[in-house]
Amino acid sequence: MGLLSEGSPLSWEETKKLAEHVRNHGVEQFINLYERLKDRKGDVLKWGDEIEYMLVRLDQNSQRAQLNLRGPELLKILQEKEQTSPSNHPTTWRPEYANYMVEGTPGKPYGGTLAHFNIVEANMRLRREEVRKLLDEQNGEAPLSLTAFPRLGCPNFTHPSYEPTPTDAGASKSIFIPDEVIFSDHPRYRTLTRNIRKRRGEKVCINVPIYKDTNTPSPFIEKFPNDADGESARAALPDHIYMDAMAFGMGNSCIQMTFQGCCIEEARSLYDQLNPFCPIMLSLSAASPFYRGYVSDIDCRWYVISSSVDDRTDEERGLKDLKENKHRIHKSRYDSIDSYLCESSERYNDIDLVIDQDVCKRLQNAGIDRLLAQHISHLFIRDPVSLFTELINQDDTQDSDHFENIQSTNWQTMRFKPPPVNSTIGWRVEFRPMEVQLTDFENAAYVVFMVLITRVILSFELNFLLPISKVDANLVEAQKRDSVLNGKFYFRKDVRTCPKQCTGNIDKEYALMDINTIINGGPIEGGADFPGMIPLINQYLRSVNVDVDTRCTVLTYLNLISDRAAGKLKTTARWMRDYVDQHPDYKHDSVITDKINFDLLTLCNKITRGEHHPEGLLHTQTSRTNDDIPLPLKKQINQDDNTIKQHEENMRMKSWPEQNGI
Ligand code: GLU
Ligand code: MG
Repeated sequence: MGLLSEGSPLSWEETKKLAEHVRNHGVEQFINLYERLKDRKGDVLKWGDEIEYMLVRLDQNSQRAQLNLRGPELLKILQEKEQTSPSNHPTTWRPEYANYMVEGTPGKPYGGTLAHFNIVEANMRLRREEVRKLLDEQNGEAPLSLTAFPRLGCPNFTHPSYEPTPTDAGASKSIFIPDEVIFSDHPRYRTLTRNIRKRRGEKVCINVPIYKDTNTPSPFIEKFPNDADGESARAALPDHIYMDAMAFGMGNSCIQMTFQGCCIEEARSLYDQLNPFCPIMLSLSAASPFYRGYVSDIDCRWYVISSSVDDRTDEERGLKDLKENKHRIHKSRYDSIDSYLCESSERYNDIDLVIDQDVCKRLQNAGIDRLLAQHISHLFIRDPVSLFTELINQDDTQDSDHFENIQSTNWQTMRFKPPPVNSTIGWRVEFRPMEVQLTDFENAAYVVFMVLITRVILSFELNFLLPISKVDANLVEAQKRDSVLNGKFYFRKDVRTCPKQCTGNIDKEYALMDINTIINGGPIEGGADFPGMIPLINQYLRSVNVDVDTRCTVLTYLNLISDRAAGKLKTTARWMRDYVDQHPDYKHDSVITDKINFDLLTLCNKITRGEHHPEGLLHTQTSRTNDDIPLPLKKQINQDDNTIKQHEENMRMKSWPEQNGI
């Protein structure tokens, strides 16, 4: 979830006093970084995935599923191997927001050769195994890749159980979530929780529409027994599921991907081109219909996390006139992006971009072009929300902690990442919207699909740009129940005209399409056809030399994506809804009881383990295992770095900058 600095955290009052200091030096650090690394070229198109796991405990005796707070203990063991052989370990482990979470990534990034697609799933399986081995399976402990725990914040939802601390002593002051849930081996997470609340001036406030079933009370209004000062009663909306803590959002899991561009221009271009895919992939990966023990009317976590870290004051949210604060800010720190980065994309920047003017001028005076300067000065309208004593004073030519402090607490759909100081890593972009799936097979499918999208974009020089306002409208659409079937999304009609050549009426460039048309192709308004992402990917695969084995792997993945888009297979969210609907204990009152939760998660665990093949969610015959991969291919994949590099060079697409002069 971001930068882990060592040291002693400062209080919000102290951090606030140093906010200008952090911004000031953060900008300086970015300028220095940029100056040093702007001309860096020849990096290869590497990529990687991050998966956040939840540790659950399925207790047969009590027939209850709980979140298991053993994360920190497990993490120590998981990280041990990595520390003893840092360069040669297939997995990497990091903490996440909650004590019941761990985050795993491949030990090193995958490269340009398509043969790497054959090891994505195996690596995910290995990660899960590494965690599983440390768990007490006899007592029902299991690692699930679950986007949202259905009874998060219900009484006794963790093992061991704790009482919430709704008083000032609590970091979140939540009436539902005890602070013991927050990752406890590093102060960052509690500090963020407290400071976000204090900066906002009240608890965070999340209201998700409840799904009105036949027996759901109408209006649906809850009473909160431990809401001493009445804050929750005032914040909760009728007909909504109310939540009041960062954990309700940051305690959810996702799958993220990072792509390295060959140079800064390619990374900027990928940042722009992938943005229209954020809502589409959110809808296609929808996996979180239940919150705080209730069936909601949304399928995805996005809005929940966005609200869970919304530290804007009343003034910044436009509820009061600006007095103490500098800007009226339209979005949470966790939200969609507000501007594109390439000059040729600029005409699609159509929403009000709030920036720090002084920062922007300073960046431009240092030779940074307007669009990048705007992007950074937009990130820098935020205050730091965690700061450590030991890191207040830094050498701006060597360190980047102040820059990273602001950058890593802007949790947007896409993230543009400069190379870290003193590393061999290049300019990267992170794709952050996707919800995590239950099985390694599905997660591999979404990951491989996204990599192929980047390949298609770069090699065919395709253009998917849409006005930012339309991408934002799509993000709202994506979260609606069954948006994958019923949603209409703005999408570009002609993807073959390069951004530079687009000069006409922007509104004629896009149409409303459903996910099926976007992914599989089909007729759109005006009698034209949209080619579809999968047909484009297939065209790309035919144009490069891809071995039969890799082709097979890719095909099984594309079939899943294609069938989910076409509604032939259900999203995880739809599958979960149907399961609850048919559960004998379900009273059609939108309540997920302990027993329903237990049965659902027990089944999820079986699906994850391949012991149960639910109808409608997956094809019956799905994954290939690592052992299916013929030896020669394994050898090829394991070739030493030089050979792989050569391979990548051969496979590399023509790069954007030359063609587009950006
Ligand atoms: N867990 C967050 C999510 O579901 C992401 C946190 C992170 O940035 O790693 O989107
Ligand atoms: Mg994370």
